[in-house]
Amino acid sequence: MNKKKAIFLDRDGILNRNRDDYVKDISELEIFPNIENFIKKLQASGFLIIVVSNQSAINRGLTTHSNVDEIHASIQAYLNKFGANIDNFYYCPHTPAENCTCRKPKPGLLIKAIDDFSIDPLSSWMVGDRDSDVDAGESVGCKTIKIQENSCDFENILKTILS
Ligand SMILES: [Mg+2]
Ligand SMILES: [Zn+2]
Repeated sequence: MNKKKAIFLDRDGILNRNRDDYVKDISELEIFPNIENFIKKLQASGFLIIVVSNQSAINRGLTTHSNVDEIHASIQAYLNKFGANIDNFYYCPHTPAENCTCRKPKPGLLIKAIDDFSIDPLSSWMVGDRDSDVDAGESVGCKTIKIQENSCDFENILKTILS
């Protein structure tokens, strides 16, 4: 069976503006303009689009699973209006002290997605804004791209992946 290729995307700072006090509900969600074209171009090249996000604000008691699900539904609804789509959202609710296997830089979220979608990590990319994103991607064999947080540097990402 042919394995699929994917773009693993960090959420905060890449698709929407990161906040130092966490994006806790949809009132704090600022989706960056033009993510729809970025994602459509990647999809047109045959990539699955998978979001992998650390959301320790949940277990810090600052937000809830249902708020996070609502944020993801809101991002998805925005994209769907333009014919773009995220194949799945995976997130880690744990704090660093819980020492789970899914909080990036650990690769648990990526491993789950690779298993769920039968993804070939070697032909896939992890795109993020922190070393923890890069490290998670590298540990499953993905190619990686790090851009500056909140920079919307989509042209650079597309040039690197599609050229
Ligand atoms: Mg980030
Ligand atoms: Zn976790």
